[in-house]
Amino acid sequence: MKAQLAQARHLAARGEYAKATALLRSQLDLPLRDRDRARILALLAHHLPRQGELHEALRRASEAVALSSKIDDAALMSASLISLGYVYAQYLMGREALDTTWQGLHEARRAGRPDLEAWALNRLGLTCASLGHPEQGCHYTEQALEIAQGPQADHELRFSCLNNLAFIWLQVHEEARREQDRRRAGRALEQATHCAEQSLRLGRQMDSRFCTAIALSNLAEARLFEAPSPEVLPLIEEYEALARTHGYPDLQVQARLQRALILSANGRLGEAIAELRALDQQAGPTPRRRRQLCRALYLAYKDQGQFEQALHYHETLAELERQVARDTMALQTEAMLIRQEFRHAQARAEHALQDARQARERASQLEREQAQLREQAAEWGRMAHEDALTGLHNRRHAEFALPLLLERARTDAVPVALAMLDIDHFKHVNDTLGHGTGDRVLQQVALLLRSQLRGADLIARVGGEEFMLVFVGTPPDLALEVCERLLRAVRAHGWGSLAPALRITVSMGLACGEPGQDPRALVEAADQALYGAKRGGRDQVVLQRL
Ligand code: GH3
Ligand code: MG
Ligand code: MG
Repeated sequence: MKAQLAQARHLAARGEYAKATALLRSQLDLPLRDRDRARILALLAHHLPRQGELHEALRRASEAVALSSKIDDAALMSASLISLGYVYAQYLMGREALDTTWQGLHEARRAGRPDLEAWALNRLGLTCASLGHPEQGCHYTEQALEIAQGPQADHELRFSCLNNLAFIWLQVHEEARREQDRRRAGRALEQATHCAEQSLRLGRQMDSRFCTAIALSNLAEARLFEAPSPEVLPLIEEYEALARTHGYPDLQVQARLQRALILSANGRLGEAIAELRALDQQAGPTPRRRRQLCRALYLAYKDQGQFEQALHYHETLAELERQVARDTMALQTEAMLIRQEFRHAQARAEHALQDARQARERASQLEREQAQLREQAAEWGRMAHEDALTGLHNRRHAEFALPLLLERARTDAVPVALAMLDIDHFKHVNDTLGHGTGDRVLQQVALLLRSQLRGADLIARVGGEEFMLVFVGTPPDLALEVCERLLRAVRAHGWGSLAPALRITVSMGLACGEPGQDPRALVEAADQALYGAKRGGRDQVVLQRL
């Protein structure tokens, strides 16, 4: 794709617009990313008007604008808007042309692209001129030329500025001549000649046939205004040959018109009329050229004294003007319809985008809710197995886990020990120091249990101040040792930090059994042993073997 774009640019730079646009059109049939499609469309819209393909240019430019806004690319947007504005100007849709090109200028500045800024100013200049404000047009075009003479500006842009300036100054000249303002006319003609000469040099330097031909035609036009002498003929012949070889029909017509003008200005009215009438028989001249042709015929017949013929061409000219007005209206209507069509398409695309965004938001909202639910479920799951005050397992978990632990001990053929632990005189703690301190005692006992026992052991708070400990694979003597270590740890703990003179002890009942012990029997035996420890004076462990 990149190679094709470069190739099209290269062809266009040499004035081979037909080949360039054919290449670009063929690319549009391929599956393309939005950005590439917009790029091709913008380039097509830029070149099509030169071949008189205004209708297609309008569609391509409109689509390019819609796509560029979708992908939010300021540079592409600018290029597309400038092309669209130019087409509007060709359709004599002044307001649309100005609005669109201004927007293009704004996007060029947003994109930080001086080249595009210059293109926009250049097109603004042409638009102003075609709307009957040639001097304002010159002003914009000169601004564009200033940028175009900068170091990185490309030749095509500079040429276009110079060429348009030549064209607009010629217009100023005609206007001044109509108003019989000789000084203004003279100055304008000087400027036109100067710009045409410069653009001709540049066109030759660029090795672009089209640019060379068009610059020659402007220079010939300026020279003819100075003096319609046969000395201008070599210029005309040169660009006519280029136009014939490379297919620029409008320039071919212009060459014949200019030649006829020289003939009639030099008294060869008959030849001039013959040339003009031959041209009139042909299909092809644009409405503008056809009007020029009729005017030239009218003047030639008048000069020759053939008033009937002169009248005929005068009437034809009036009818042509009416026809142009009607055609322009039709084109403008069509352009407006196309504009509406793309606006609708854009609105639809925006709605679709909004719908998609809403759907995405709904989906992510659902996802968030799901995550919350999962978290809640996990929390509830934890709560079902966890004691909220101490973070240890609760009675429910102990009842669920104990049979599994015993089953595993049986398969692994390892001994199992179960201890019940109860805080001594806990009621007294609550009664004297309050429930809050009681809670903190429970939490610290839980911490002590955790720190003293192995991770593999089961520790659960199974009652108010009662804990169950299960040691799997621990023989009775070792289990007893662990319990005694626990008693000592509780006794030695710094309870004074909770309340001065607070002393906490615990009593434990330890039941040890062979593998394959029945859980209930084990718990019962431990309870019995605990009862024994309490009766024995508390702060002790009693072992019961099963
Ligand atoms: P013994 O040495 O015979 O075990 O005497 P004791 O006072 O520890 O035994 P008792 O069963 O008479 O009292 C247990 C107390 O534990 C009663 C209750 O108020 C208290 N208790 C139970 N659950 C909690 C709790 O979650 N927080 C607090 N602070 N106290 C609790
Ligand atoms: Mg108790
Ligand atoms: Mg107690």
